[in-house]
Amino acid sequence: MNSKSNTTHLIKTANSFLVLDVIRKSDSVTVEDIVRITHLSRPTVLSIIDDWTQRDVIKRSGYAESNVGRQPVLYAINNTTHFAIGIDFEFPPIHLVITDLSGNIRYQKNWDCSFKMEKDNIIQLLIENIQLAIDALDITCDNIIGIGLGIPGTVDANHNTSEIISRIPEWNKTPLSEILSQHFPIPIYVRNDAHLMSLAAQDNLKLANQDFMYIAYRTGIGMAIIRDGSLFEGCHGNSGYIGHTTVDINGDLCSCGNRGCLETFASKTTIENKYIQARNLDTRIPFDTLLQLADEGEPIALDIFKTAGQYFGIAIANSVKLLDISTVIVDDLSCKETHIFIQSIEETVNRYCSSYALQPIKIIPHQLKKEEYALGAALFILDTFFQKPKLKLSV
Ligand SMILES: [Zn+2]
Repeated sequence: MNSKSNTTHLIKTANSFLVLDVIRKSDSVTVEDIVRITHLSRPTVLSIIDDWTQRDVIKRSGYAESNVGRQPVLYAINNTTHFAIGIDFEFPPIHLVITDLSGNIRYQKNWDCSFKMEKDNIIQLLIENIQLAIDALDITCDNIIGIGLGIPGTVDANHNTSEIISRIPEWNKTPLSEILSQHFPIPIYVRNDAHLMSLAAQDNLKLANQDFMYIAYRTGIGMAIIRDGSLFEGCHGNSGYIGHTTVDINGDLCSCGNRGCLETFASKTTIENKYIQARNLDTRIPFDTLLQLADEGEPIALDIFKTAGQYFGIAIANSVKLLDISTVIVDDLSCKETHIFIQSIEETVNRYCSSYALQPIKIIPHQLKKEEYALGAALFILDTFFQKPKLKLSV
């Protein structure tokens, strides 16, 4: 048999998850609704519903209104039996959430590592905190559908390994999924942190069907590309590495070994350092304080944000031209759209795209709440669970 064809088993499984996805996207739904939406036969839908009900993934949630005959039964996702774990490995802070199947946060914890900690101790602490979280909800691994980890560095998404985290010495090529699997025998996914955070922003801003670029403006600068409502991860899971795109070949040396990367002009750390140098200070002023100073018109802060915004704008304009996407969300930035930094980015993007773009490029500052940093990783697990497997449509 052609290995690319859809086997009967695959089609049955896909139909089963199709029904589950319809139930997930409705508060509650009847069998007739599912038949109408999926075009599956009534006996097929009934059989699938029976299977998911026995597995405690869905439940009866009441009865629909009806003017004739019996009131039809409503079905909904059962949010008491299965959960997803999301972890944002910002480092040194690490964030963890557990959500139910509807994406509601049921548990959250943040802890700080130290820059001096060795790799094995960082991973051991991670394992302990995952176990504590599972214990706190009085559940076992049988109740967990997967663990998603967002990594601030390069990953190999095909093998779920964390390749490089520049902030952690000797971290290279850590088989995180393999290590965690020895303690938690459940699916474990290692992904780029910006990619996973974009899913929380997508949920937050109700952008389910919109194309957008999501920039995670954290210690580094990462990016996620959302097309047709779905995350574009790239061949290895490292798409959108905007922080290390070159904006000046004669620029400063970057931590990656190249010169003139965007991060050497516009990262939060760079902006803090430029302010220290310009004012000849010996103590660091936090980035958010500098944002505030610029907002109050302090001339040095204004000048630094304006220049950083121009380089940021050039990098974003290059991405816009490559991808033809007009909406750009920058997270996490505690300022309004009228701030000099956003204005400078937006003006530069539109100037560099003026001969190309059919509509103005919009830069939207956004701020996830702390407990939402890891939410995207859990939402990724839910998406993976509800939408697999996909049928091969080519014939
Ligand atoms: Zn670089």
